Amino acid sequence: MMDKNDPQARKPLISYIILAVMVILLLNTFVFPALLARQVKEVGYSDFLSWVDTGRVSEVSLEQSGDQIIFLATDENGKEQIYKTAVFPDDGLRARLEAAGVRFSAQIPTRNSPLLSFIVSWVLPIALFSLLGRALMGQMNKRMGGGMNVMNFGKSNAKIVADRETGVTFADVAGEEEAKDALKEIVDFLEHPDKYAGIGAKLPKGALLVGPPGTGKTLLAKAVAGEAKVPFFSISGSEFVEMFVGMGAAKVRDLFKQANEKAPCIVFIDEIDTIGKKRDTGAGIGGNDEREQTLNQLLTEMDGFDGQKGVVILAATNRPESLDPALLRPGRFDRRIPVELPDLAGRKAILNVHAKHIKLGPSIDMTEIARATSGASGAELANIVNEAALRAVRMGRSEVLQEDLMESVETVIAGYQRKNAVLSEQEKKIVSYHEIGHALVAAMQSHSAPVTKITIIPRTSGALGYTMQVDEGDHYLMSREELLSKLATLTGGQAAEQLVFGSITTGASNDIEKATKLARGMITRYGMSEFGMVALETVNGQYLGQDASLACSPAYAEKIDDQVVALVGQARAKADQILKQNESKLHELAAYLLQKETITGEEFMRILEGKGE
Ligand code: ADP
Ligand code: MG
Ligand code: ZN
Repeated sequence: MMDKNDPQARKPLISYIILAVMVILLLNTFVFPALLARQVKEVGYSDFLSWVDTGRVSEVSLEQSGDQIIFLATDENGKEQIYKTAVFPDDGLRARLEAAGVRFSAQIPTRNSPLLSFIVSWVLPIALFSLLGRALMGQMNKRMGGGMNVMNFGKSNAKIVADRETGVTFADVAGEEEAKDALKEIVDFLEHPDKYAGIGAKLPKGALLVGPPGTGKTLLAKAVAGEAKVPFFSISGSEFVEMFVGMGAAKVRDLFKQANEKAPCIVFIDEIDTIGKKRDTGAGIGGNDEREQTLNQLLTEMDGFDGQKGVVILAATNRPESLDPALLRPGRFDRRIPVELPDLAGRKAILNVHAKHIKLGPSIDMTEIARATSGASGAELANIVNEAALRAVRMGRSEVLQEDLMESVETVIAGYQRKNAVLSEQEKKIVSYHEIGHALVAAMQSHSAPVTKITIIPRTSGALGYTMQVDEGDHYLMSREELLSKLATLTGGQAAEQLVFGSITTGASNDIEKATKLARGMITRYGMSEFGMVALETVNGQYLGQDASLACSPAYAEKIDDQVVALVGQARAKADQILKQNESKLHELAAYLLQKETITGEEFMRILEGKGE
């Protein structure tokens, strides 16, 4: 059915009809008469006379102009045909015709059947045009990503993929043991539904995979289907968002209809937040009817189907806080499976899974790589392994070495080395002091992670140098002392510049940003200030590293700002003090770094502890 309220749907149809009618009229006036006329065969006058005598002619008509005779006669095969001939002066024609018993008149015998001419001039062109129209629409459809077909408006054209074999198994997903355990139950249910039905247990209809981007949520969903060997219907939330109101809902209906037919199976809705956002937010003019309708349809379908049948709905999102509570209610996505960033062991496992496909050299230490990549997601780790392989090829080697992996860790974390970025000698000197400033302040405090590498080779990310600090194990909690040392370390770069050169540069902008964020967090979220345990900010999008938003009165906002300034100021004072006390070491280390450009944590510690080179 067509939605009459939708001007977008009506407009193209109307102009299309007008165009078709105009073209048909033109054809009727000029082209078709000519076509019909050509069917009339011309014969000589003598032939005409002999045909009259032999009785082949049945009807004769003199044209209005009087210079042409149109007649009906049977051809060689005995079929009736219209012929014409030029008029030759002949007074005996009438008698001759009468003798042969031919009917004659002064009008064109309308041998043209009215039906035929109707078909030729009206039905054919219309058929032709609707075919053409369809072809055009089809193309437009493709370009606009579907949903534009006026002919079957209201029907969904969801291209739902049901891969019987996703080819992915749990073995391809490294780490994430908790998530896998939770999903194994679903696999078991899909394999032996009767076991659960027998006892009367109902499995959750849906499970929601939540976690930061790149942690393997999509991969896990595919692995569930691969393990259970059932069809896998996969659709992304954004594919529901359609041009016309009602199309998204139709797609949902379609999806569940198909899934019900194919049960047991898995329906996977990726990025469900695109349709599952809270409904009441920002009800602007017109609102977002389409999304809301789609979501309502999804809720209805989830309530409607029989959980025993073996349709399991998986969904993934990295913004669980924005989901409509109705989606999370029991009977819908009541099971929530966190897919977190991998820990040390998890990172090592992921690196190994991806390293399986590449040729590794001897003495590869994945633990070292895993250590250096704290906070990296599975996708980033996969990328690191691939970058290392690419680097090995660039270097003309046939296997990947540890240095390729280490270099690609830095590439992925800090951008490519900018080989041709030429820093002046003075700039290099400043960067050296800046980095040693960070490292020295870190090393002189008891609560900071050891320095593992310092470099002044510029990166494409814009960093002119950096100091890498790597913790031994993973950290889930950070104490106030640790945060304070981190804050001091961040200010160490600029502190060194000030101390040595008596002026500061723009090089500390990133440090400043980080320090401010950290100090703010300590005050507003971690209860590490005189305000005590009061949440002054709330975090949106915990998995996407989004900013926190204020949750306090303007009066407090001002006080918070004062506290942030004070906290960072204290940290800077501490850094100043540390550097002043170790000024000779600062000079010694900076000179060494300037000469070497990259130094390891051991080299750094050796010089710092005065053991010489
Ligand atoms: P998400 O859906 O959580 O954003 P994906 O499942 O799309 O992340 O992961 C992207 C890629 O990262 C995967 O194709 C895979 O190569 C890699 N990956 C992520 N997590 C893991 C993991 N736990 N084990 C192995 N590979 C992983
Ligand atoms: Mg994904
Ligand atoms: Zn810095």
